[in-house]
Parts: sequence; C-alpha cells; structure tokens
Amino acid sequence: MKPAAKVQKLALSPTKSNPTVRQCLRALATPVQALKGVGPKRAEQLEAAGLGTVEDILYHLPFRYEDRRQLKKINQAKVGQEESFTGQLAMLQNRFNPRRQSQMLTAVLRDDSGAIDLMWYRAPSYLANGLAQGQQLLVHGKVELGSQGRLRIVHPDFEVLEPGEESDHARILPVYLRPGGIPMSFMRKLTAQALEQFKVYLPPGLPPSIAGRMNLISIADALAKLHEPSLDSDVEALNDASSPAHRSVIFDELFFMQLGLGLRKRARTESRAQPVGASGNTLLKRMGELLPFKLTDAQRRVYREIAADMAGSQPMQRLVQGDVGSGKTMVAWLASLRIIEQGYQVLWMAPTEILAEQHFRGLSGYAESLGIRAALLTAATPAKERRELLPRIESGEVQFVVGTHALIQEDIHAPRMGLGVVDEQHRFGVAQRLSLRQLVAGKEALSSTTHEPHMLLMSATPIPRSLAMVLYGDMEVSFVDEMPPGRTPVQTKVFNERERKQVYSLVLDELRKGHQAFVVLPLVEPSEQLQQVKDATQMAEKMGQTLFKEFGVGLVHGRMKTVERDETMRDFRDGKLGILVATTVIEVGIDIANATVMVIEHAERFGLSQLHQLRGRVGRGNAPGFCLLVNHGTASAVAAERLRVMAKETDGFKIAEADLKLRGPGELLGTRQSGLADFRLASLTRDTELLATARKEALTWLEKDPQLKSKESAGLREILKHRWGKRLQLGVVG
Ligand code: ADP
Ligand code: MG
Repeated sequence: MKPAAKVQKLALSPTKSNPTVRQCLRALATPVQALKGVGPKRAEQLEAAGLGTVEDILYHLPFRYEDRRQLKKINQAKVGQEESFTGQLAMLQNRFNPRRQSQMLTAVLRDDSGAIDLMWYRAPSYLANGLAQGQQLLVHGKVELGSQGRLRIVHPDFEVLEPGEESDHARILPVYLRPGGIPMSFMRKLTAQALEQFKVYLPPGLPPSIAGRMNLISIADALAKLHEPSLDSDVEALNDASSPAHRSVIFDELFFMQLGLGLRKRARTESRAQPVGASGNTLLKRMGELLPFKLTDAQRRVYREIAADMAGSQPMQRLVQGDVGSGKTMVAWLASLRIIEQGYQVLWMAPTEILAEQHFRGLSGYAESLGIRAALLTAATPAKERRELLPRIESGEVQFVVGTHALIQEDIHAPRMGLGVVDEQHRFGVAQRLSLRQLVAGKEALSSTTHEPHMLLMSATPIPRSLAMVLYGDMEVSFVDEMPPGRTPVQTKVFNERERKQVYSLVLDELRKGHQAFVVLPLVEPSEQLQQVKDATQMAEKMGQTLFKEFGVGLVHGRMKTVERDETMRDFRDGKLGILVATTVIEVGIDIANATVMVIEHAERFGLSQLHQLRGRVGRGNAPGFCLLVNHGTASAVAAERLRVMAKETDGFKIAEADLKLRGPGELLGTRQSGLADFRLASLTRDTELLATARKEALTWLEKDPQLKSKESAGLREILKHRWGKRLQLGVVG
C-alpha cells in the first residue's frame, strides 16, 4: 500500500505543469484502493474484474448511454419505451416471494400526473435499506404493462434525490458493466473521482502530427467526454461507438498495437537465424518415396513459401492457416526435414497431450525409416524418462521433439533448435507461443553462437485474410486452401428438439456399422441461470443408461482433471467407447478416422467457426461423415441464420467471413487468443478502416524512426512498453 499512498499524494498536490510520460503512467498505476470509498472488499471485487488501477477505471468505458435529457410526466409513459421520471415513493413493500424463494421489493412512484409501479426481484438488502417512503427518486427504465393494466418498471435504475434537487437532472448517463454487482451509482462516482484527480496524468499518446491529420482529440479529453458526456452530445453516436471521442481512443489503441507489431517485425529482421540452404535434400527425397499420397497444390505452394523463408538469414515467422483436414501436418513435417537435414533440431508444440501423441504416432514411423531420432515430451512423461531425455535434447542428439507446453519449462534448453512448430496456435497465448522460440537461448544466451530459430505457427481456425494480415501484423501468412482429394463433405443437417428420434436413429445406424459418434453440449453441468440448456454430464448419464448403453458412453469436459480427460479420449480413440459426450474441449485437431457422427446439441449457442471446427472432427476417414445440429431455439434469430450457413457452406474461410460479420473477432478468435484481440474499446470488425489507417501511420512512423530513438518518439516508447511490452514481448523497447 505504501507506493499507492505516495502516488496519490503526488496526484493531489498541485500538479507539476508537465509531468513526464513515465510519471504519468506511474500515477495512473495507482491502485484503486487509493480512491475514496474503495475499501479492501470493493478493491478485491474491482481487481477480480481486471480493474486494479486508476488507469483501468478510466478505461472502463460505458457500454451504453441513457438519454435522460427528457424527463417525462408519469402519465406520458409509453409502454415499451425507456423513460425517466422523477416522483415520490408513495409505497414501499418488501416481501418474501415463496415461488422464487427470495425477497421481492415493490414500490409505487407518484408525481402530480399519476403513478407507476417499481419492482425488484431478488432484491439485495442494501437496496431495500437505502429506500424509504417519501423519498424523491429519479428512475429510469423500460415501461411495461403489469397486472391489472398497471404500468411498471422492473429493476429500474434510480437515484435518490436530495430535497430541492429535482430540477436539474437532465443529462446523458453512462452505463457501465458492474463487476460483482457493484451499484451503478458507485461505478459512476468512482469514475468521476478518478477523472477529477487523474485526468492530468493521461499522457498525450499520439504524435500531434498524426492526431491532427486524423482529427483526433487527446485521450484525456476523449475519456472525459466518454464518462461525462455533455448535454449536447450525440447519444446515438455514443451508443454505436462512433463519436469523435470513441474514434480517438480506438485509433490510439490500434496505433500502438500496430506500432508494437511493426517494431517486433523489424527487430526480427535484425536477428539472425540459421539459414537453411538448398544443399542436401536427401531426407526430403526419401520422404517423397515414403509419402502415401500426392501433395495437394496448396500444400506444395505453402511448403515452397516456408522453404524460401528458411533459406534466408532472418528467422521465419509464418502462420499457416488451413481448414481442418487440409493437411498442415505434412507440410510442417517436410519443413522439419529440411532443418534436420542441416543438423539442427525441430520442436513441435501441441495444445493437448492427445494431439502431441497423435503427431508423434503419425510421424515417428517416418522418422524411424529416415533414421531420425524422435521423442515425445508431455506432462505425462515419467520423471525418470524426462530426466534422461532433457540432456539428449540439449545436446542435439534428439532431432525431432513433439510435446505440449511441458516443453516450455524452465529446465529445457534446445540450443540446436532450428525450427519451432506450434500447432493449433490459437490455443496458446502470445507469450506461450513466443517462449518456445526462447528454448534455444538457454545457458548460451549471450554466446556468439546464439541464433533465433524459425517459427511455424499452424491454425485451423481460419480467419478472413484481411483480418489475418492485420492481426498477425508481424508475421507472414500462408493459406492451405485446398482439401486433399477424395473427401466427401460432411453432410450437415439441422434438427429441432422434436426431431430427436431421427437424430438418434441416425446415430444408431452409424454405431451399428461399427463407427463412433461425438455428442457435444455447451454446458458441463446443469446451470441455475440457464435452466433450459442441457449439459454434458446429464446427457452422458442418460445416453449411457438407455439406447446407447451397449456401445459405451464416455464423458470429457474442461473441468475434469487432464489425466482423466486424456484417458477417456484415448479410450475413444482406441475404439473402447462408441460415443463421446463432450463440451468443446474436443474441438482441437483430434483425428479419429472411425468417428463419423458429430451431434451438436444447442447448436444455436455456438459460433460458426466453432461449429465448423467441431464438424471437422468427423468425416476424416473413408466413410462419409454426418453433422447433426440440434437447434433448441434458446438463442436469437441470428443463431438460426448461422445454422443455415453451416448446412450449406463447407469452406472454412467463407464460414469465417460470415462469422466475423455475425459475431466479431473476439469471439471468433476465442478467449485464448489472448493478447492481440484484447482491446479496451477497439473492435476488429467494426473498426477495420481505423485499423488500416492506424497500421499505415504506425509503419510510416517506424520508417522514419525504426527504433523509436528520436526525441519525438520518447513518449511513444513509454506508452508502447506499458501497453504492449509484455503481451508482445517487446524486449527491444526501453
Ligand atoms: P490438419 O490440417 O487439420 O492438421 P492433418 O494434417 O491432420 O490436417 O491431415 C488430415 C488427414 O489428411 C491426415 O490423415 C493426413 O494424413 C491426410 N492428408 C494430408 N495430406 C494429404 C494429401 N495430400 N492427400 C491425402 N491425404 C492427405
Ligand atoms: Mg492439425
């Protein structure tokens, strides 16, 4: 707590006219607890929601604005409209609602024109305690028609007015997400306080020349306008995030991200990699003879792109995107052979043990035929084996290592590493992906032989090309956009609940042919809040007891211990179970040729890309695959549209485009794609134009000042380090 107190004093003292950017950032890092009214408990709630500092509070922007410039008389209330009234609490009643097993608070608000009911279900006690008959209130909310034709507002926003305060309440009110049910009034006061005390510490971020060109206002002014909109603001623009203040904050965010990516790309072009020449392609030639199929044109093209990168002296950083089943593994294997041929080592990292095992099983046969020493290293590797393996990796004796994140432990060094392959890279955080590369440094970090390994990232979550180019601004991107021949597209059908019999009879048909089926559900266990949504646990139980008993039913989900989950996955892979009931944990690249049916319950609750990923789990063998989407109708109309897209579209990239439009990139990339899509305000779908300009401006700036060494860039450096230093591992900055 000590530093906080100190900074707060700094903040409250008459400010130095021009604090440096560094001083500003330090002041903004003041813990929330230093703000008035924030005790340890509130601080904990705020912190848990990622609002640990004053800066977090200032950037916790309203997600909606209420137009309260027009106060109405109660008799002017229109059903279905959001309205604001002031009036007197004429009646207040707190009673137990036996049906809901909770307190229910009802009140009547009266003005000189009429009366309206207010009600709160499950009213917390602070609410009831804060209200008293006779108080003047300002309430806001959606007017509904209650029982006996009376008007009411359920869960209104309200504030208690001081006597005589009624008149000047016309304003535009910000609405915040409230962590842990913190009252809205508290959030507003907190923000106001933070602004008042710390506004002067919001550093001017962008160079004035850029801000001028783009017509942007300073961050300090922008945040002030967003938290405390003036009465003449355009509420519509505020609500769709297109106000000048929004644009300013968004551009600022995107600019710094692009600056970071640009800097990282530049830094890479300055580090050295192990160039892999064209000499000696013996391994590749021999592999060509072992290959059981002909490479597709797309595989060939992507391989050539990779090979060209690796022949250079700059470390490759290439993302290979390709639909599930497009054959990325083989491309990565061929690239690996090139490196091994040169006497270097290749490390592959997969997100799950099963997947690592799958790669190892699939490739160790080739490795053996080619005389390559290969090893598998996961958390499941026995300690003794691991102990023996590490020095063999370190010495370079083992040439091909497949593992999970067990690979990026501190005691593992691979100074001979020439290539790192990260499979299903979207499952890893940015930092994890980068740490594989750092295994090469180890003890010799400073020695002159240190080189950077080439990196190959693979992803089966296609994202639209435009987005990929920007999002992965520091990488090259390849597309395996062609499927191996002879695959029959998975037949996709949408059903509703009443058609369950048909779904089950299709599943039974396949099981009787000796095939296997996945059944995916959105929930692990029954949920209080989502009572109409089915869960995996109960579904597995039910299926295991009835129709499907004889085939064996397994269950996997994210809350199980990894060991248990992997065991069940293995049983399914080995054919000991006919049905695997699961949550989306199975969407990662698992390849079980005998599984031909994918049933997705509550398909309406999944995103398109996710559905596509799941569908990709079947139809990988010779037998045709089926994807049965059961729509329980618990989501919006957009959901039905998604399912229609799924039924007719098989191309992952087209699906991704549709998904991006329907849902936005955060969802599309999944939460694990931490880091890059993590903006406070910017949206990679909504703000594509700003993104393109921000990228252009950032790259132009770097052209002029490649290392941000100039005086004008000093502030930029500090802010960049502060926002993206960790996420992008910008060791180069500062
Ligand atoms: P993904 O791109 O999803 O990682 P995989 O690399 O797992 O796909 O490939 C899926 C399946 O297709 C594997 O069984 C693989 O052996 C097979 N495969 C890969 N390339 C070809 C090809 N050119 N022709 C036929 N089958 C192929
Ligand atoms: Mg794969």
